[in-house]
Amino acid sequence: MRVLVVEDEPSLREGISDLLRGDGHTVTAVGDGIAGVETGLAETFDLVVLDLMLPRLDGTEVCRRLRAARPGLPILMLTAMGSEDDKVRGLSEGADDYVTKPFSARELLARVRALGRREPVTESLDEVVVEGATIDLARMVVVRGDQRSTLTPREVGIVRWLYQHQDRVVTRAELLEQVFGQRGDLQTRAVDMAIAVLRKKLELDPAKPQLIISVKGAGYAWRLER
Ligand code: CA
Repeated sequence: MRVLVVEDEPSLREGISDLLRGDGHTVTAVGDGIAGVETGLAETFDLVVLDLMLPRLDGTEVCRRLRAARPGLPILMLTAMGSEDDKVRGLSEGADDYVTKPFSARELLARVRALGRREPVTESLDEVVVEGATIDLARMVVVRGDQRSTLTPREVGIVRWLYQHQDRVVTRAELLEQVFGQRGDLQTRAVDMAIAVLRKKLELDPAKPQLIISVKGAGYAWRLER
């Protein structure tokens, strides 16, 4: 595999790189978050080993930016503190797995191998086909039978975000930040209104949504259950 290692501590960065090279991988190693994003976007990697605490740009933000551009890229987070908060934060930012420092060589290699074996979940996401409807995200239209609705860029963003995170519930605040580019709980009503409009275009019966599901007290999910 081609592995990108983002770790600011030189001895650890070199140690991890040597370990991975010894396991047959091709390694590129950088020492801060900005370099991590730039290298991760400029080249193609099969896996990123990403430290959480990094200079210039935090590991969670590196993860978020890489994930936004490369949804299927596996990311293994290195967390220093080992607190549950950091683990949950790392995973919620899109990391696939984490190891807590200090870790053994055996543990790191096992996680790297496990992530490398995983089937890629990436899709071009130009088109989502669901029962009775085709959502063409590239052309920004929904076709359901002979009914054709156009989508706004923001609606395309909502569909993409929910679809790419369909394994979990997406909060209103998250949609607000990631798709609307805004922060603050006061505006979350705007998310609800946008979802209501979007459902009229996507859903067979907007009163009984089957695609964008409301999860009480939590947010929205792309059809959690069938
Ligand atoms: Ca660090």
